[in-house]
Amino acid sequence: MKIETLAVHAGAEPDPVTGAVAPPIHLSTTFEHGPANEDLHGFVYVRDENPTQDRLEDALSLLEGGDAALVFSSGMGASAALLQVLEPNSHVIFPEDVYVHVRVMHQQYLPKWGIQASVVDTQSPQAVKRAIRPNTKLVWLETPSNPRLHITDIAAVSQVAHAAGALVVVDNTFATAVFQRPLELGADVVLHSMTKYYGGHSDVQGGCLILKKRTPLYDRLFHIRMTLGAVCSPFNAWLVLRGLRTLPCRMARHAANAQAVANAVVNSHAVEQVLYPGLASHPAHAIAKRQMAGFGGVLSLLVKGGWDEAVAVASKVKLFRNATSFGGCESLIEHRASAEGPASQSPRNLLRLSIGLEHPDDLIEDLLQALA
Ligand code: PLP
Repeated sequence: MKIETLAVHAGAEPDPVTGAVAPPIHLSTTFEHGPANEDLHGFVYVRDENPTQDRLEDALSLLEGGDAALVFSSGMGASAALLQVLEPNSHVIFPEDVYVHVRVMHQQYLPKWGIQASVVDTQSPQAVKRAIRPNTKLVWLETPSNPRLHITDIAAVSQVAHAAGALVVVDNTFATAVFQRPLELGADVVLHSMTKYYGGHSDVQGGCLILKKRTPLYDRLFHIRMTLGAVCSPFNAWLVLRGLRTLPCRMARHAANAQAVANAVVNSHAVEQVLYPGLASHPAHAIAKRQMAGFGGVLSLLVKGGWDEAVAVASKVKLFRNATSFGGCESLIEHRASAEGPASQSPRNLLRLSIGLEHPDDLIEDLLQALA
């Protein structure tokens, strides 16, 4: 089945009790069992497993083409769980451009857990190969990356990692399963912040891991989620499930709008560079074209000048809102260096734009007046 059909039907079986077509939300934290803890209904406690979470996990596995999925309280909760399964003395490779709190996590927490990290330009599979150590267990990819829209060749890096016995995780939050299929390209695990496009309305937080194979890694992740507690709430699972129904439609519009905006501002006198993989001028446009079915709804602008000039543009927009995050219906703009704090490595003149579902002409008019 095509992804548009899957998005509508995955995890959407009518409620077996009432026939309700819209899935019920099971808010119960506990489920009846026998007097000696005998399993009566397949569920025990909300932090282990819950019927609404199960529906979402089934839907995510189907959408992403994986064997199993686990949903967490946030994208960071999912990221932390994946790192927490590693044994002390493991080594992980991270990309240079990565979501800032993944950088904070590996800089501040991995040393305490006895795990080594290397930061590598994963745009070069050769650089990844050179960084591999005998104890490398995981290669972390984020493509397109936040906020510089770096593109990593997932198939090429997966080959390098697998040759060394390491797993590959791809943060697929920017592209979504609609535009990029990491598990089909060779990755072992896909990560999403469901707070972004999967929720799609800037009103729910969640994260997920989707595994290509239901290996013992699944059981270790399940145990970590259950004991450390970063599980997705039933209500949040329900909201994300609702968001998934329109994901392919929304992604098509986000991407078309982003391409229109990128094309319109690329020649502005106030813009040094537009970072968007859909532009032929993007250094990895050819790789993006090969491994993505669309280029996504996020782009970054390098404004001519520095910090002050970029902030000046962000202060002049009227329709775009100055706010963090991306993937909602409304367009957002953010000066990342201001937002990211001390761990920021974003260029000082970078503005990240989440292109929403408005008419592109209105977005372009707003940006051009702010850049004028
Ligand atoms: N991955 C990417 C690419 C992100 O942009 C973010 C958040 O912005 C995360 C992961 C973390 O997700 P969450 O905010 O849901 O914890």
